[in-house]
Amino acid sequence: MLLHDRHGRSIRYLRLSLTPACQMRCTYCRPDWLHNTDHTGALTPAELESLVRHLVDHHGLRKLRLTGGDPTARPDLLEIITRTASIPELEPLAMTTNGLSLASRAAEYVGAGMRRINISLDALDRECFKAMTGVDGLHRVLNGIDAALDAGFDSIKLNTVVLRGQNEHELPRLVRFAAERDLPIRFIELMPMGPLADQWADRYVPEPEMRRVLQPHVARWEPLEQGASSARCSRVTLHDGLTGIVGFITPMSCNFCAACDRLRITSDGSLYPCLMDQPAGSLMAAIRPRFDGALLDRMLNDALSHKQAEHPVNGFVTMTMIGG
Ligand code: SAM
Repeated sequence: MLLHDRHGRSIRYLRLSLTPACQMRCTYCRPDWLHNTDHTGALTPAELESLVRHLVDHHGLRKLRLTGGDPTARPDLLEIITRTASIPELEPLAMTTNGLSLASRAAEYVGAGMRRINISLDALDRECFKAMTGVDGLHRVLNGIDAALDAGFDSIKLNTVVLRGQNEHELPRLVRFAAERDLPIRFIELMPMGPLADQWADRYVPEPEMRRVLQPHVARWEPLEQGASSARCSRVTLHDGLTGIVGFITPMSCNFCAACDRLRITSDGSLYPCLMDQPAGSLMAAIRPRFDGALLDRMLNDALSHKQAEHPVNGFVTMTMIGG
């Protein structure tokens, strides 16, 4: 039976955060107090597989994305990919990553069964990238994108969080970079959660403003069908004829809650029916010491019966703990 929330939305998409740990310290995402973890106590690959299989077999789950923190911070990531990619009813497996490990590991991820990958890229200027991510790693991420292109993923997308006073001026360059590689790029509005929550009103750049920054560089915008994506995308033609796909993910100026089909579970078993709301408790009792599907279903249904129609105004925890 499909999982439904009390607003009639069915849940077909799980975002599984494998760890709150990340090799980056993005100013808008990872607070100073959050130190990296050794993963003791995190759901194991076998437990994650049981959880996903249960949701697929009993509740018609169709999509799975591995996220974090950064999923690549998990030493057992390849085993997790292998176990979850082999579930035939799921759409091709997806992952979101900071891209730092791709130069050396993209081919292994594909070999294990990963098919779709979203890579964060906030700037093409080395200093701007370093200021936003806390890591002098632009070169590694660019090499990672090249490696991902060579590795044979079905889909590669770039994601950029846009911060006022930091990277708005990078948008035209980023669009050209993506278009030259035939990669879609999506610009994300800052959400009031995490370390910049207090400064949100000053740092948030709404979609219309992002478009204004891009406007002098774009000769033509052709809106594309949105489908199930949270991004509203257009095919853009630049003045020299280069074409690319640009999307906007606008949780703040124009939210997409009405079509939300997502559930989030973190590596400690916490359940988040909404990215910005409080966790709805822990599923651990249904997973350890042995998997209890009936208890899990009661917990899921109870949590979904409280899912709000729209996300709260302010986030409850920071994104690195839930997975965006
Ligand atoms: N580490 C991976 C990465 O870098 O993409 C995956 C996890 S990260 C939490 C997932 C996404 O959340 C990234 O695209 C990141 O930029 C975005 N994100 C984090 N904090 C955000 C915020 N306050 N507002 C909007 N997007 C945010």
